[in-house]
Amino acid sequence: MGTTVFERRRPAASVVDHALQSTAFAAFWLEDVQRTEYPRLAGDVRADLAIVGGGYAGLWTAIRAKEREPDRRVVLLEASRVAWAASGRNGGFCEASLTHGHENGVNRWPEEIDRLEELGVENLDGIADTVQRYSIDADFERTGQLAVAVEPHQVEWYRGEEGFLDQDAVRAEVHSDTYLAGSWDREGCAMVHPAKLGLELARVATELGVEIFEHSRVRLVDGDGADPVVLETDGGRVTADAVALGTNVFPSLLKRNRLMTVPVYDYVLMTEPLTDAQLASIGWSNRQGLADSANQFHYYRLSADNRVLFGGYDAVYHFGGKVRPEYEDRMESHRRLAEHFFTTFPQLEGVRFTHRWAGAIDSSSRFCAFFGTARRGRVAYATGFTGLGVGAARFAADVMLDKLSGVETERTQLRMVREKPIPFPPEPAAAIGINLVRAAMNRADHNEGKRNLFLKALDAVGMGFDS
Ligand SMILES: Cc1cc2nc3c(=O)[nH]c(=O)nc-3n(C[C@H](O)[C@H](O)[C@H](O)COP(=O)(O)OP(=O)(O)OC[C@H]3O[C@@H](n4cnc5c(N)ncnc54)[C@H](O)[C@@H]3O)c2cc1C
Repeated sequence: MGTTVFERRRPAASVVDHALQSTAFAAFWLEDVQRTEYPRLAGDVRADLAIVGGGYAGLWTAIRAKEREPDRRVVLLEASRVAWAASGRNGGFCEASLTHGHENGVNRWPEEIDRLEELGVENLDGIADTVQRYSIDADFERTGQLAVAVEPHQVEWYRGEEGFLDQDAVRAEVHSDTYLAGSWDREGCAMVHPAKLGLELARVATELGVEIFEHSRVRLVDGDGADPVVLETDGGRVTADAVALGTNVFPSLLKRNRLMTVPVYDYVLMTEPLTDAQLASIGWSNRQGLADSANQFHYYRLSADNRVLFGGYDAVYHFGGKVRPEYEDRMESHRRLAEHFFTTFPQLEGVRFTHRWAGAIDSSSRFCAFFGTARRGRVAYATGFTGLGVGAARFAADVMLDKLSGVETERTQLRMVREKPIPFPPEPAAAIGINLVRAAMNRADHNEGKRNLFLKALDAVGMGFDS
């Protein structure tokens, strides 16, 4: 097997030890917000629309529902705290893509991809408008995204693209000797402070009249959809004409969806704020989101106070497919990230990481969200964002509301919206299959990106594994 640049230019262990010496195991973003307390559900409530889940998908559904019909009674139930999960701890890349990138979209829905990409840009514009209209304080910066080639074979992937940057041009943007070329999509991505965005969406929803309840885990009461749907929590119950499920990677309230997604753990580091001199040493004055290009890739970005968030690479699936807090503490993955950080920016030697954390990603075998209804159309769901849900959650909210309205729209008629992914097999096949795919992707990254027969076979049936 060949090597990657991260193995060829490994930093000294002492540099990594020093950087990780006093790193807190906590999500920086969640510590960097002031929370509003929302009550626990108590007693019986009657609602027109009940939403389960207080992440972006649930919160956007709440806001969009009120924007469509201000008089509707809308209740949102969150098992823990608003935006505590993926929505409060992600990389904050708010991308236009609804299909987890062009490549995945064009392979699956070639006849629709142009329209899907227009709808994705409209969706991101809609997020920007919402941020402005309601004065949302979430460090929203539409700086675009710069994809960088760090191995010679990756350069060809970008040549000919609209935002192509050759080696000199990409290094002029951000000073890393690992960069060989790049492609800067200036419009298709914004950077956000993820937790602030979540909490601000909750504020806006509340101001529009949505009633939010925290610490209210929902059980879906049996029924066939002939009557309004009943949701029970330990403290009360909501009876609703329509229900939207935005429960992401957590066990679905619908049995049919239990094998449709698997949790994959993604790891993140955050540095201390860089000094002006440190920042000058890496350039990056245009503050784009950055991502390198292998199957196992890193994403990194600046925070408002010039910390560097550095995440990705390892994508870990645990046998049994459970979501468990202990899976987040994986020093091996955090250490690998720290090494790769100093390979990328050796001039930052001496910088420390203040935070390390992880989160579970709802991976579906098609790498982007899927949608559907149950209970005679009274319950709608959207899940499976596969690590790209910050922007796409708003589109998903619109799809759920369209579906619940019972009226066909352009969105509901999209093949991408009508089709479902192939489910993952039950254990032990899931773990065996996923680990085989991971190993094959790792080999491809060490072999000039060449996908072996196994990966090609999965590509051919539209099944895969990603984070
Ligand atoms: C480390 C990490 C980095 C990421 N980086 C990016 C990125 O840079 N860009 C990007 O686009 N995406 C990224 N993602 C993915 C993105 O964060 C998610 O796709 C998005 O936040 C999903 O939003 P959601 O509302 O569906 O889910 P969540 O934020 O997970 O919200 C679901 C909520 O539902 C609640 N819930 C579940 N079951 C119940 C129940 N029975 N009753 C009541 N409440 C319930 C949960 O408590 C939770 O709060 C990242 C994810 C992780 C983990």
